[in-house]
Amino acid sequence: MPTDATFILAGLFVVAAAAGWAFARFGGSREKEDIKAPISADYLRGLNLVLDRQTDEALELFVRMAKVDSDTLETHFALGHLFRRRGEVDRAIRVHQNLLARPNLNETQRHQALFSLAEDYLGAGLYDRAEKLFLQLTESPTIATRALENLINIYERESEWMRAIEAHRKLEVLNGEKSSRGGQYYCELAELARVQGNFELARQYLKNSIRGGSGALRGILIRAAIEKDQGDYPEALRLYEQIIERDRRFMVEVLSPLLECHKKIGSIKELEKYLEQLLKHEPSLQQDIAYAAVIGNFTELDIITRCMENFILSNDLFRSLVDVKAIMSEDPKTRHEHASRIADALRGLSVNSARYLCTNCGYSSQSFIWHCPSCKNWETVRPLRTFQLDISMS
Ligand SMILES: [Zn+2]
Repeated sequence: MPTDATFILAGLFVVAAAAGWAFARFGGSREKEDIKAPISADYLRGLNLVLDRQTDEALELFVRMAKVDSDTLETHFALGHLFRRRGEVDRAIRVHQNLLARPNLNETQRHQALFSLAEDYLGAGLYDRAEKLFLQLTESPTIATRALENLINIYERESEWMRAIEAHRKLEVLNGEKSSRGGQYYCELAELARVQGNFELARQYLKNSIRGGSGALRGILIRAAIEKDQGDYPEALRLYEQIIERDRRFMVEVLSPLLECHKKIGSIKELEKYLEQLLKHEPSLQQDIAYAAVIGNFTELDIITRCMENFILSNDLFRSLVDVKAIMSEDPKTRHEHASRIADALRGLSVNSARYLCTNCGYSSQSFIWHCPSCKNWETVRPLRTFQLDISMS
């Protein structure tokens, strides 16, 4: 059923068409020359039908008008756009299909109608049909850029990374400038190859990702995981430390594989030294280590449990809830038990709270993502450095 808003919009459309006619009829002299006839009787009939709330009949009339009156082309595009904006995609598709059936469209008009129809298909969730039309338009002299942008969005949505790379390359040529997006697609392919155990292919994709000029941090993370998977633990450790060097927020992601690699080669004391050094230069990292330890339930190293206890027992919220003085005066074993219980509760809370945040749009999620589903930017999501509980209180 047509909505009230549709009636209003369609009414506005007809009024606008009539106003446009009146301007052309009585306005500037050049436009005046183009007017071959007084306002079309069909427009007035269309207006009546809209006012009588007979949108389907009005639509039929406008479609028929397109067949006989090429001057109404732009207004039909506007009508199709309005229908699509209102979510009445079937009507928008009918308008644009009828325009395409007109034999006298020039190339630019035909491309515009194809593009509008592809947008209708997108609106209806018919991505394969939209893709076919956008592909037809990638050679269009007028609309290729927008067609490629839409194709890239479809391929990103469907994780068609090779096709995304191809469309992205064409877009770079058209725009005459490089963009970092292509590097992200290669990272996606590299990660897929790594998970499937095809390390050689994964390395190849990573090389292309570097050439693409993007995903530096992500590339290091994938390389580190490849080295770990292949048993080159010293190299994996070097790369994981590089990630912390570049962005402290990744401590929560990297502490677990750091522990794993050190355990594999029996160098767990080295990790203790490494963390001591980090804290010496940057004491605030205690919070990051504590957060990572609580999330990952790490209790292997004294320094990690110490960070966790200090963080918990110096937290303003917990100080107001528990008798921290009494806990601190307990023997180390009892103190540790108290801290562990609080850590368990915090871990339980974190299961249902956001752990990652997009630095561009504020989108939050519980799992790590490289492509923000909200603002569509790449590599803008970062791990939080502490519990949401603290953030909401600050
Ligand atoms: Zn975002």
